[in-house]
Amino acid sequence: MDTIGQHPVLTTDKNFQSLGLSEATLKLLNQIGFQHPTPIQSDLIPPALLGRDLIGLAQTGSGKTAAFVIPIAERLQHGEGVRGLVLSPTREIALQTKAFLDLFGRHHELMTVCLIGGVPIRPQIKDLRRGPDVIVATPGRLLDHLNRGTISLNNIEELVFDEADHMLDLGFLPQIKSILKMLPKKRHTMMFSATMPYAIEQLAQRYLNDPLRIDILPEGKAAEGITHRLYLVNPMQRKDCLLTLLNKELGSTLVFTQTRREAHWLYKTLFHEGHPVIDIHSDKTQKERVSALEGFRSGEHRILVATAIASRGIDVQGIKHIVNFDIPETVEEYIHRAGRTARGDAKGLVSTIATFMDLPVVKRIEAEIGQEIPRCSVAGIEPFVETQKKAVQSRRLKSRW
Ligand code: ADP
Ligand code: MG
Repeated sequence: MDTIGQHPVLTTDKNFQSLGLSEATLKLLNQIGFQHPTPIQSDLIPPALLGRDLIGLAQTGSGKTAAFVIPIAERLQHGEGVRGLVLSPTREIALQTKAFLDLFGRHHELMTVCLIGGVPIRPQIKDLRRGPDVIVATPGRLLDHLNRGTISLNNIEELVFDEADHMLDLGFLPQIKSILKMLPKKRHTMMFSATMPYAIEQLAQRYLNDPLRIDILPEGKAAEGITHRLYLVNPMQRKDCLLTLLNKELGSTLVFTQTRREAHWLYKTLFHEGHPVIDIHSDKTQKERVSALEGFRSGEHRILVATAIASRGIDVQGIKHIVNFDIPETVEEYIHRAGRTARGDAKGLVSTIATFMDLPVVKRIEAEIGQEIPRCSVAGIEPFVETQKKAVQSRRLKSRW
């Protein structure tokens, strides 16, 4: 039970009893303390139980996992071959999904196997021989198994694309297309995404059958309760700015970098400065990542340095402060990162360190979140003055002459 995260989450005043679930499932929900469904759960579970294809548009932390796992667990029985497939963008999300499937699949004795990269393939092949009912997989590793002939997807009835936009961001589209060719046409498909770029729209049109669209994205997109701050500095001062910020804000902090090399370098620097820090990126083994996350969750490490990709699906309660050591390349990415804090009703702070070269991205982010991000500075570091303001100043100077 402790593998299921228990975080503050926005729920509705509806009851699970009204959604058409079995007694066994209701009992499990009660046991884990889910009292009311979240909006996506309440909208999605009834049509999903009936086998309707769906597109669920919802933010991170809205309770999507249970929303799709529960209907699958209700619809499948044990021992009829691999009939459920969940495609996940990252190992962490896949493992979390398996934990939900293990729990809610209990009354139908469903067996779930996780096929994720970065761990040896042999134990997975052994697990597959034991006759699982559901597979949770990252696209790359699943394709590996398909090419080796260690799994067949001929009997899939339930298909989920979880975090479809992330999977495309990670470049999984070719793998996804290859996998889809091996699936039966007649099946129940659910797709989830926090954004709806054109590529996702196309995927949905092509591979879903008259899907119902369930959109619970809030108007403003980025979660409420978040304070945004921007630190415009010279490129050479990004590190000093970060160090000062870390000493100023003492809560649990997640620092994002663009590359794993930078994550590792930053980890070493912070470690030498005496910070309780740990890092997570794709050079680390699965075991190291899990233990890093555990250390961060338990508070042993106050600071987690992560690449955006490795941090997908990090589900840690009470992150107070997000620092973008590199500005995200896209607005969606900024909103995803910001969504790691201020979960539920909590308050959070997002500090972005940027240089003048990043100003166009800043403008796009501001347009999306509908507010100008306050420019802030830290002691001892000269803030970069934006050109517009500079131009105004120099004109004033001229007129004085
Ligand atoms: P998403 O996939 O949308 O990012 P998750 O499925 O990971 O969200 O759920 C976020 C958190 O909310 C998890 O810790 C989960 O255990 C919890 N949660 C989900 N549904 C409920 C509910 N109905 N009541 C209470 N907590 C819930
Ligand atoms: Mg999820």
